[in-house]
This record gives sequence, C-alpha cells and structure tokens, in this order.
Amino acid sequence: MQYTEFRARLLGWYGAQARDLPWRKDRDPYRVWVSEIMLQQTRVAAVIDHYHEFLRRFPTVEKLAAAREASVLAAWSGLGYYRRARMLHAAAKVIVREKKGEFPATSDGWRELPGIGRYTAAAIASIAFNEAVAVVDGNVERVIERIAGKRLVGEAFWTEAQALLDAARPGDFNQAMMELGATICTPRAPACLTCPVADLCVTRGELPATEKGPRQKKREIHFVLCCERDRVLLVQRPRDASLMAGMWELPETTGAHPGTKQIPRSARNDKSNVKFSLKHSITVTDYTVRVWRQAANGAQGEWVNVKRLKGLALTGLARKILRKADLFPEKPVRKLHASDSRV
Ligand code: SF4
Repeated sequence: MQYTEFRARLLGWYGAQARDLPWRKDRDPYRVWVSEIMLQQTRVAAVIDHYHEFLRRFPTVEKLAAAREASVLAAWSGLGYYRRARMLHAAAKVIVREKKGEFPATSDGWRELPGIGRYTAAAIASIAFNEAVAVVDGNVERVIERIAGKRLVGEAFWTEAQALLDAARPGDFNQAMMELGATICTPRAPACLTCPVADLCVTRGELPATEKGPRQKKREIHFVLCCERDRVLLVQRPRDASLMAGMWELPETTGAHPGTKQIPRSARNDKSNVKFSLKHSITVTDYTVRVWRQAANGAQGEWVNVKRLKGLALTGLARKILRKADLFPEKPVRKLHASDSRV
C-alpha cells in the first residue's frame, strides 16, 4: 500500500467534495462531541435539525450540565437510543463540576467520561484537538477491508486504520475515511468509477459475503389513540424501565400500562377499528404498529395538550404515530443524499 499517495488523494478529494454539514464548520469540542453522539446509529439527514435545535437550547456545556434531564430528553426526542442523551448529560456534569468546564484534550481523557467509547473518543480528540489517533466505525471498516482485499477482525481494523492515518491532519483524515464510506464506498454497489483511491484499492467492488447478518424478527404491537378536544392521552414509561425510561408514549393495549383496555382478539380481525397502521424498526425487530380508535372512557394516563408535545420527551414511535395522526407540529427533516449515514 502506498500510504503517502493514499492520504494525499483522500484528503484532496475530501477538501473538494465533502458535504457541507453544520458540525464541520468549526472544531469546537462541545459541538464536535454533541454531533458525534447524535450520529451514533443515526442517519446524517435525521441529525441535522436536532443538532441545531439542541445547540439552541444548550449552547454550552455549562447550560447542558445545568439542564433538567427531562429537558435534555425532550430535545433528543426523535433521535432514539435515549441512553446517549442521558450519558451526554452525565458527562457534561462531570466536565463542569470536576474539570471546571475544561474538555479533555486526548482520546484517553474522553474515554473516562460517561457514554464515550473508543470510536467517539478518537473522533473528538482527532477533530477538535488534532490528536493523531484513528477512528474505526462501520464505514471505515468497509473501506479498509475493500482496499486491503481481505476480511479483518477486531483489533486488526484499528491497527490498519492507524497505519493509514495522516498524522498531520488526523481530524480531516478520519472524517474523509468516514465520508468515503458514506458516499462512495457504500455497502451496496460502491461507486468505484468516481473513487479517489480506486487504483490503490485491491477489491474495487464488494468483497464476497461471508455470512448472513442477523435475521430481522417481526412483531405486531397495538396502541390506542384517545383524543379529546386539543388533548391526547399519553402514558409515561417507568423511570426504572431498561429502555426509554421516563419517556412518554401512547397507551399500549397489551396491558403493559395499568388501566389500558385489552383489545379482544376477535376485534383485532375487524380492521375497521384500526385508525391506521405503520411500520417501525428497532435494531433486529420489524414492528407492524396498529393504532386503534378508542373512546377515553376508563383509559388511564395523562391528558396532554398537543401544543406541549414538541417539548415533551416522546419516544420515537410515539412521535411517528402522532405525526401520522397530524397531531405533531414538526417541520420535515431536510433531505440529503440517500446514502447519508455514519453507520
Ligand atoms: S475503489 Fe471501490 S471498493 Fe475500493 S475504496 Fe473505492 S469505492 Fe471502495
């Protein structure tokens, strides 16, 4: 591998072709950190509006540390994987209370904070502090394997990424590798004809598949939509729930929330009672979600004025249902390239 040539070509291409994304406008560690946490398991296009809104509400680490958790979760609502927001909030408190507002300048320092793993620590330290440390995410793994023409496992990815890294411009180089994987060297049908490092690449296409990924499971779940004038009935998930603790959602019909009526099995075959259905996927499960019309009689929960919904920490699925029911006042997410993704 001609490392020097590879770095020069990749950085030249990145300088000319990189997407204009808001978190690339400066290297402020707080902004870089927020963007890196949001981009975990979330598409770039979905992050952009949340990123602006989150920084408007919490423009500094001090403001974030001082915020109530409910406000942080509300600003995160729609991005999913809410543990990220809780960890971001917890780390902000550590930085403000224990480090006097000083951000760590190294990846090792970042890894001591809640919610910061190896990839995120390296990304922040290289972009915001120019530390010569490589990142490895799904995009980088794919690019490295195709360039090398072989499958790698575990630590071998990090070793190869570190060997490739341009130590003079580590932040740009790391972002360029991820950008190449997101826009050119895509999982399916990579655009090798326009790839800046094509003649340094062994594979120039997809590596033969080794084994199938985990199969998606299918499940059906049911919610009820009770509306009364400008209010909708919601329930709050238990504060000690393992997933999305304390978030708000529509009442399920499975009995998960006391007082919610079970929809009889016979009624489930009568689709005229279903207000609408939608699809929703979480990790390896594809859900068919049926939303039922139901009068408020007897249903338990809290009546919430629709004007308050935007500021409430709703689960992603609740937002989806309320948006489909025309109850959620959210502007559409800006569209970017179809392959925009950091994972
Ligand atoms: S030539 Fe094709 S396979 Fe190789 S890095 Fe470029 S886009 Fe990926």
